[in-house]
Parts: sequence; structure tokens; C-alpha cells
Amino acid sequence: MNRSHTPIAILGAGLTGMSAAFHLKRDGVPFRIFERQPHAGGHATTHVEAGYRFDKTGHLLHLRDPAIRELVMRWIGNDWVEVNRRSRVWLHGVYTRYPFQANTFGLPPEVAYECLLGFIQAQATPHTVAPKNFEEYCLQKFGEGISRHFMIPYNCRLWGVHPSEITADWCQRFVPLPKLEDVVAGAVGLNDRELGYNTSFVYPRLGIGELPKGMARDLPEIEYSRAPSHIDWEKRELHFDDEIVTYDSLITTAPLRPFVQALKGVPEPVVAAAAKLRCNPLWYLDVAIKVPSKTDHHWVYVPEEKYPFYRLGCYSHFSAAMAPENGACFYVELASREEPIMAEVLPQVVSGMIEMGILSSPDDVAFARPRRIDYAYVIFDHAYFSSLEVVKPFVQNARIVAAGRYGDWNYSSMEDALIFGRDAAQKARLFLS
Ligand SMILES: Cc1cc2nc3c(=O)[nH]c(=O)nc-3n(C[C@H](O)[C@H](O)[C@H](O)COP(=O)(O)OP(=O)(O)OC[C@H]3O[C@@H](n4cnc5c(N)ncnc54)[C@H](O)[C@@H]3O)c2cc1C
Repeated sequence: MNRSHTPIAILGAGLTGMSAAFHLKRDGVPFRIFERQPHAGGHATTHVEAGYRFDKTGHLLHLRDPAIRELVMRWIGNDWVEVNRRSRVWLHGVYTRYPFQANTFGLPPEVAYECLLGFIQAQATPHTVAPKNFEEYCLQKFGEGISRHFMIPYNCRLWGVHPSEITADWCQRFVPLPKLEDVVAGAVGLNDRELGYNTSFVYPRLGIGELPKGMARDLPEIEYSRAPSHIDWEKRELHFDDEIVTYDSLITTAPLRPFVQALKGVPEPVVAAAAKLRCNPLWYLDVAIKVPSKTDHHWVYVPEEKYPFYRLGCYSHFSAAMAPENGACFYVELASREEPIMAEVLPQVVSGMIEMGILSSPDDVAFARPRRIDYAYVIFDHAYFSSLEVVKPFVQNARIVAAGRYGDWNYSSMEDALIFGRDAAQKARLFLS
């Protein structure tokens, strides 16, 4: 068996792994990077079928860090668009703007009244006890109406678990908390601007896959279709079929739970804590249509249980180049975590899209494909923090830097992945002798 040594080994050429590799390379630190798939990009890839281009559901770039923005712009070249968000909520047969909590105008009056009154009451109620879970957070911050009509049902469908199972800690950054004047203005139809943390986004004209393609051009070192069959964390060895690679430090971007579970000889408390880490898969549909979409929304949130999907979005509204002329392409995210039976689900999806005014007829559909993301949403349940408190020190003591949305087991964006990669490169260097 061949044996070789690398100071730093990286598992995964998604955005995090490639960012780590890029930053090490820039500083002249030797490394090897292994990717299980025959291509780079992980969750941020685009595939093409019959001239329609599909990402793995909506992947929009929100860039706040100037250094990361500069790198992204270099990797995607000049071929990108900056888009002002047009997102909507579909509820009770009408569209309202997003976020729901600040845009109840247009809903049936009794619903808008319940939402507005509940919000004002919630604001007026002094809360001395911090919310114990996401459901309590919604009730305390948004009140009864907004929680019942949108927050609770929508988040049940998105996360695949009831919000009472989710801690209140994660949501401050991602659930926009509007001001009272915005909620009142939104209830009477006065909000004329998009609110929240992601009101505009950058998008490569040919899909998000252009970003990892650009990164991979800088990294001919990536070893594709190559994943270790076994990792000896005590000897710091990666075992491949044809080679044993020893390392001083390992950066892993593979999903943390299965990564730890695949290691041999891990102390029992760590194995037990890893087993408590939960993550839901996601089933969604690629849908291609032969006619232009009849609505111009980028994506729509759908909280009502009568629809099989909780969100759908239109790639060809992000960039017209995503579909052939006079066609359109969509992602439709399904609420059920079971594999969809297409003969049952597709007619329901199409009839929902017709009801929502997106399509005119089932004949508009060119094709639809079911897709699965194995690890989509890490669940911030009540065992989340205590489990990570056991797993992470073990990993770190083994000179392993676990990074990225799934490597670090968190909820984060592509920009975060690029930052995590940059940070992981720094941390891994600390282990070098
Ligand atoms: C449904 C959904 C929608 C999203 N929408 C957005 C959005 O709109 N905007 C945004 O900014 N972010 C979005 N994200 C988040 C974004 O996709 C991630 O933050 C980012 O792609 C994570 O990159 P990563 O490199 O950490 O992980 P990954 O993309 O998972 O990459 C990990 C890589 O490691 C490889 N790998 C795994 N195990 C091994 C192994 N043992 N050996 C070698 N290789 C291995 C995998 O094949 C993969 O290529 C979304 C995510 C999901 C799931």
C-alpha cells in the first residue's frame, strides 16, 4: 500500500472545503483535498436538462463581507445579476408580501385583524421569562394570530418538526422581528419596500454552480471521486483503496453525525451525543414549463397544509438564462419527508400552481423530477447544544477541524461557508508541528 503525508487534508470540495484550500494555497501551505463526487460544489451546484437549468432549490448569494464579495465576484466573473427580491406568501387564496408579519394587508379582514391585534397585544405584554422554544418565541414576539396563521404552520413544514421541538436561540438572525409601525403600515397596505435581512441578492446568470466552477478552476489539486473508506483518527491516517495518507491536521466538511459515527474507537459518551444530532432530508421537484410563468415572484411561502409544498421558486426569474426562451423552471419544496409518489404528488403540485396563477394548465408542464437532499436542515432541538458540547471537543482534540453547514452542524449560508473555510484554514494551521 502506498503511504504519503500531507500537513493538512481536506474532506469535501463544497464551498467550505474549497475556501479552506484556496486560503491555504494563497498562503503557501501544502494540503490535499478529496471530494467524494466527480465534481465540486456540494449543495451549491446546477444541473441542466433539455436546456432548463436547476440548482438544488433556491441558492441566492447574500454577500456582506467585503473580502468574500470580492472573491465571489472573481470566481463568477462578469456573468451575474443583482436582483431585488420579489417574495410572497400565498395564504387564503391571496398573495401578501414577505415577511408575513409585516404584510397582512390583502388577507381576509378577520385574519388581518387577528394578526394585528395579536401583535399589538404581544408587544404590550411584559415577558419576564425567556421563551423556551421557537413556538413560545413566536407567540411572545408576534402574538397569537401571526403565529397561528403563518409562523407555526410554515415552520412545521419547513423544518419537518413542530416549532416546540426547536430552541428559541437560533431564530433571532433568521426570523425578522418587525417594528410596530411596520406591522401597522403593512396591515393597512402602506409598506412599499421589502423588509428583512435578504432584500436583494447576487445570482450567477447560469446558476449557482458557476461559483464552485470558478473556485475549482483555482484548485486543480482537487482529487475527485475520492473519499477515504476508513479514518484512523488516533494515528491520523486516511485509508483509501490504493493509499494511506497521514496528516497533521484534518479539515472535514462531511456531515458531522455520520462522520463521527464512522470513526472507530470513539468514546461511548461521544457516540451517544452524536446519535442525538438530528437533521432532516428534503424532497423537492424540478419543474420545467413550456410557457412563461404567469407571475413574476422569485419565490413564494405556502403555510397551508392543503398544498403538498411549503415553498416554491422560479429560477428563470432569478435569471432568464436558466430556461429556454418562452419557458420557465421552478423548484417546489415538499413538506413530506417521504419519497414522493409522483403520480399522486405531481397533479397536486400542478393544481396548486394553477390555483396560485403560475400556470394555466397541466399541459404547460414539460417535465418534473423528484430530487432529494439527504442533509438539508439541521434541527436545533433541545439536545442540540448539549450534544455538540460533547462531540466538538472530541473532534478538536483529534486535530480535526469540522467546518461548514454540515461539518459544523449548523444553519448557515454560502457566504458563511466561504468564511468558515477561511477560518478552518487558520485553525488547521495551528495544529501543524
Ligand atoms: C435547501 C437549501 C437551500 C439553501 N439556500 C441557500 C441560499 O439561498 N443562500 C445561501 O447562501 N445558502 C443556501 N443554502 C446553504 C448552502 O447550500 C450551504 O451553506 C453550502 O453549500 C454548504 O457548503 P459546505 O461546503 O459546507 O457543504 P456541502 O455543500 O455539503 O459540501 C460538502 C462536500 O463534501 C463532500 N463529502 C462529504 N463527505 C465526504 C468524504 N467523506 N470525503 C470526501 N468528500 C466528502 C460532499 O460530496 C460535498 O461536495 C441552502 C441549503 C439548502 C439545503
